[in-house]
Amino acid sequence: MNKTPHANRLHIGIFGNRNAGKSSLFNAIIGQDIAVVSEVEGTTTDPVIKAMELIPFGPVVWIDTAGLDDVGILGSLRVEKTKKMLERTDFALYVMDGTQPDLKGYEQMKGIFKRFNIPYMLIVNKKDAMSEDSIKKLECIEDEKHFVSTMEMRDIHTLNSKLMEKLRAIEDEEVLVGDLLPYGSTVVLVVPIDSEAPKGRIILPQVQIIRDCLDHGIKCHVVRDTELTDALSELSRVDLVITDSQAFKEVSKLVPESIPLTGFSILFSRQKGDLKKLLSGIEALKSLKSGSRVLISETCTHNHSHEDIGRVKIPRLIHNHLHSDIQIDFSMGHDFPHDLSKYDLVIHCGACMVNRKTMLYRIDQSHEAEVPITNYGLTLAHFSGILDRSIEILKDRI
Ligand code: SF4
Repeated sequence: MNKTPHANRLHIGIFGNRNAGKSSLFNAIIGQDIAVVSEVEGTTTDPVIKAMELIPFGPVVWIDTAGLDDVGILGSLRVEKTKKMLERTDFALYVMDGTQPDLKGYEQMKGIFKRFNIPYMLIVNKKDAMSEDSIKKLECIEDEKHFVSTMEMRDIHTLNSKLMEKLRAIEDEEVLVGDLLPYGSTVVLVVPIDSEAPKGRIILPQVQIIRDCLDHGIKCHVVRDTELTDALSELSRVDLVITDSQAFKEVSKLVPESIPLTGFSILFSRQKGDLKKLLSGIEALKSLKSGSRVLISETCTHNHSHEDIGRVKIPRLIHNHLHSDIQIDFSMGHDFPHDLSKYDLVIHCGACMVNRKTMLYRIDQSHEAEVPITNYGLTLAHFSGILDRSIEILKDRI
């Protein structure tokens, strides 16, 4: 469980003003002193990110943030960093100091949670230091709220159980293959092992598809492209072939039309994003012309090679098939530009290393800026001439 990638864990953010007791609450919930706690305002300067097992829910990532009311130039930078965490937060705990309630700040944050579509819970902290009158006043807040003292283990246990309920309600990640095929089906996974393949292992999206097949009782055979033809002839029945998107063209020639074919990245387009919106980005790709500007965005940083898909292959396809003077910019990691207005299209990576929330946020941000967005898998399928075939298996679920 400790090896569960961050991308597959729900991210719980703790927000609130300085000295509201966010870090104490964080430490009390996880039962460890991870975040530095002190009476001095603004002790948490950068977000503290901790992956852990939240028993009995499962693997999560906690994000403890700096105070939202921080001041000065450095303070504003810290607030910016805190707000940036919203992009990957699946569930928020808003911690209010019950002895100095900032209702205006809470209302503002509620608006922001709504904008980011983040479910949240209000925690009124320092209950032990509050008078009955002040408790009564805050009880009038209409939202669901929990009065806690981080020194009272009973409060923390109650809060934990409530949190489990909320997390279970939002744990709705779509399956990858399990809902496309019935139990007992047979799938062939094509994993090219070339100079681009990492030494001694297969990559995370492939591992996740294998696990999803196993979870749903789907038999899965993993082969290289070079053994695909043999595998297809040896197996009495194949219900689906899933290939690395870089081998789409070659694999589509080897797989008979009677066998459905799709790509790892296409399956992830659905699980990690919004396939319908990403597909509409392909229409924008087709209409790029001389002078158009494209942003290629990747959510993690890795070394670039001579055949790097984002840096080399997709730009080459765009320049060769559409127009040689289409301008292409790149963004890496969590630095997705705020201003997308100068772009005609965003082409995003498969987002396997980030959670669904992060990808959905980027899709929404592009739509707000009226800039179409698509991803690597769909782009490669389009340029290989097999987009329609590769999404056929998903057509009832788009
Ligand atoms: S760049 Fe994107 S698709 Fe590639 S490994 Fe990183 S998150 Fe996954």
